[in-house]
Amino acid sequence: MKYPIVKNYINGGFVDTTAKRTLDVISPLDGNKLSEVPMSSGAELNEAVKAAKAAFGKWSKTPIKERVQVFFKYKTLLEKNLQELAALCSEENGKTISESVAEVEKCIELSEFACSLPQLVTGEILEVSRGVECRTEHVPLGVVASIVPFNFPAMVPNWTIPNAIALGNCMIMKPSEKVPLSVGRIAELLKEAGLPDGVFNVVHGDVEIVEAICDHPDIQAVSFVGSTKVAKIVYQRATGNYKRCLALGGAKNHLMVLPDAIPGMTAQNVAASMSGCAGQRCMAASAMVAVGAVDHIIEKICDEARKIVPGDNLGAVINKESKDRIEKYITEAEKGGAKILVDGRNTTVKGKEKGSYVGPTVIDYVKPGMSVATEEIFGPVISIMRTNTVDEALAIENANPYGNAASVFTQNGGIARYIIDHASAGMIGVNVGVPVPREPFSFGGWNESKFGVGDITGKSSIEFWTKLKKSTTKWNAEAGVNWMS
Ligand code: NAD
Repeated sequence: MKYPIVKNYINGGFVDTTAKRTLDVISPLDGNKLSEVPMSSGAELNEAVKAAKAAFGKWSKTPIKERVQVFFKYKTLLEKNLQELAALCSEENGKTISESVAEVEKCIELSEFACSLPQLVTGEILEVSRGVECRTEHVPLGVVASIVPFNFPAMVPNWTIPNAIALGNCMIMKPSEKVPLSVGRIAELLKEAGLPDGVFNVVHGDVEIVEAICDHPDIQAVSFVGSTKVAKIVYQRATGNYKRCLALGGAKNHLMVLPDAIPGMTAQNVAASMSGCAGQRCMAASAMVAVGAVDHIIEKICDEARKIVPGDNLGAVINKESKDRIEKYITEAEKGGAKILVDGRNTTVKGKEKGSYVGPTVIDYVKPGMSVATEEIFGPVISIMRTNTVDEALAIENANPYGNAASVFTQNGGIARYIIDHASAGMIGVNVGVPVPREPFSFGGWNESKFGVGDITGKSSIEFWTKLKKSTTKWNAEAGVNWMS
């Protein structure tokens, strides 16, 4: 075991667990055991909530311009420790070092946004009647929770940490039990940046602790990122307990490729979108709709896919079960009559035989009803469906229950606009394979890719992490009283 057993982080320090159950933390890169993670009890969650509640009084009363000073320092600490955090992230998740570096760079951008919050949360004030002023203020909620998935061990926690905390809340973070290490390092960096004890706490666990978070009477809001199946459970349970909840779910993102698309750029984008982070991105292209005569582009996509080398510029998928599941999808498609143009099954990396690698896979002539066309595969696989018209392509895109992202590759601005208007997804790309909005634009899908109102990052997150106080004041008795004041 490379690292000591993972500990919860409560009230500014790592604490020994009383958990009866632990899970192994295995590196997908080589199958080596990195650590063990405790499945915490409800009592341990209570301790974390107690610490957060105690810290809230002082933290919420600290002016926001002082609170964000922590995130100015945190940003520079992320820069200073970028390589080290990226290495840890890669080791536990299986992505390549350059993908992990990009992940930490995104954390830096998210912190920069939080530093700008004082400029964005100013309230409003207006004299609404003679001598009477109405004024609004954004007030923090209290103790909030953030439950995160395995695919971005540093970035997804940083979707919520800087904004929620800079806005005055105290947080309980529940990392994925598959990748619990990066969040521990993030906790250390936040402390070094000057975050007071108790403002940020980490409780490890799985189902039991998530349920306890949803039920805890002192947790005001729950943010969740993960699969749609669990997003629905968490959304129902948290809102059933009258909490505010924003639950982001899974995805099946479609790329629509038209004959006038620039072949080289399109092929590179499609290949990068389907294989980046080994296809384990909620923004990954998982399905491509080839509209009309685009065989010349599909050929180029295959050329690009063949340049992607597992263990080199392609990381591992999270575990052996995931590799088996992905390969099963490919085999099912083959049996159903689809054509495997590039086959990533049975991939091993020399010297890392226990790693869980799937090579890039391009499947053509997929029919819209096949499981590779409708389900989230979460691997470096693209399923190509053929249509004759843009409307047929849109019908396929709109029939899928998710709605995270969709992209179109074309040089025709009118068609691009038509797709922006008619695709049922929250984030649309035009000649962009992974249309993740950068700060200050917010991130969030539609349909079964998100439950709740608003988005998780950017300005939209201000509404989620705060409540609005409206005050009406009058100081001039000489103005008299009328029905409005
Ligand atoms: P997951 O849903 O299995 O797990 C997410 C979190 O929920 C983890 O912390 C886990 O411990 C917990 N959990 C798992 N099962 C649970 C249950 N039955 N009850 C309560 N809690 C439970 O997701 P994952 O496999 O870690 O992550 C991959 C998924 O996340 C994919 O579907 C991906 O699309 C999605 N994702 C979505 C976004 C987005 O922005 N929409 C971003 C990243 C990942």
